[in-house]
Amino acid sequence: MRLIQKSKKLDNICYEIRGPVPERARQLEEDGHKIIKLNIGNLAAFNFDPPDEIVRDMILNMPHAAGYTDSKGMFAPRKAIMHYAQSKHIQGVTIEDIYIGNGASELIVMGMSALLNDGDEVLVPAPDYPLWTAAVSLSGGTPVHYLCDETAEWMPDIEDIKRKITPQTRAIVVINPNNPTGTIYPVELLQQIVELARVHQLIIFADEIYDKMLYDEASHTSIASLADDVLFVTLNGLSKNYRSCGYRAGWMVVSGEKRHAKDYIEGLNMLASMRLCANTPGQFAIQTALGGYQSIQELVGHGGRLLKQRDLAYKLLTAIPGVTCVKPKAALYMFPKLDPLMYPIANDQEFAYQLLDQEKVLIVQGTGFNWGSHDHFRAVFLPNSDDLTDAIGRIARFLDGYRRR
Ligand code: PLP
Repeated sequence: MRLIQKSKKLDNICYEIRGPVPERARQLEEDGHKIIKLNIGNLAAFNFDPPDEIVRDMILNMPHAAGYTDSKGMFAPRKAIMHYAQSKHIQGVTIEDIYIGNGASELIVMGMSALLNDGDEVLVPAPDYPLWTAAVSLSGGTPVHYLCDETAEWMPDIEDIKRKITPQTRAIVVINPNNPTGTIYPVELLQQIVELARVHQLIIFADEIYDKMLYDEASHTSIASLADDVLFVTLNGLSKNYRSCGYRAGWMVVSGEKRHAKDYIEGLNMLASMRLCANTPGQFAIQTALGGYQSIQELVGHGGRLLKQRDLAYKLLTAIPGVTCVKPKAALYMFPKLDPLMYPIANDQEFAYQLLDQEKVLIVQGTGFNWGSHDHFRAVFLPNSDDLTDAIGRIARFLDGYRRR
């Protein structure tokens, strides 16, 4: 019999957040073990409930949500997104510039598929949210990783970006606030990226899905608000800010220098049509979420549960010998560094397997975020304080054993 093999297009694709280590965790669960899962930014799984009004609104609208909608999405939620873009000072956005998708994920893949030809390069941060690298590769492009500098609080290294721009570079991806590092980029740095995009005629893909999940009274600037002579594709959605990733409601806003992008926009429209439309119930939630009470503030502001858990995770992790971490200013993740002299890790996936097998804690190894060396991991700080203390205690015990062996 002829072997049925996966497409060669998948050769360089990885998505370790739900990869082989989580698969081993699933098997352990089937065998009756309790696993502490620090691998996925799934707020609902840790009793962070979505705003009541969104749930009620979805239930009320369910009888009217059985049909397809316009490919780009329904009018009312797109209007709400338009208003949101305006509130973030993104100029000149019309309803036609807004696409609703089944989560930002679908639109990330769509945005790359519509753009790239074989050999086109896209600058992607390292570390990154790995869907970006995967989407570039899947679309026939070549991801070129630019360095975010841990010694500079994980800010993008502008000189490294400059060195990596070639005549094949089509776009640059900016994840701000960042996953996995939790860094928020200052306006001056964003302006430098815009200037590079202007000079080299690059599209800026801005992933801003954590733009309301900010600690320590930080503020966020949408990079698309900084110019009208560069093409921006800005992504956002309900998954994080509104704790409703299961509703699969995300959006994409095309702004800036659209006049020279008519052909690309036609490509986006074609791909949006081919997948018919985003799920209709999720679209109903968008308008209510954006126009409603912004309860996220109660979680990230003074005394908020997420803020407390961020502080606790930071304190406990950095108290472990040989573990350092830039304190995240946004999002849901710690991306600590393990001192390579104390923890000489040859293969960080193997490290993640061992931690899982011995302590029943599931993290994601740093290389899963296209980080070049085997000395980091990512953990969500979503479990409640007791569970977080338990989980990090287990990590500490494992590391203690690791360095003594
Ligand atoms: N972008 C970033 C940076 C993320 O962390 C995630 C999910 O974790 C996504 C996009 C995907 O979001 P969605 O649930 O809207 O597909």
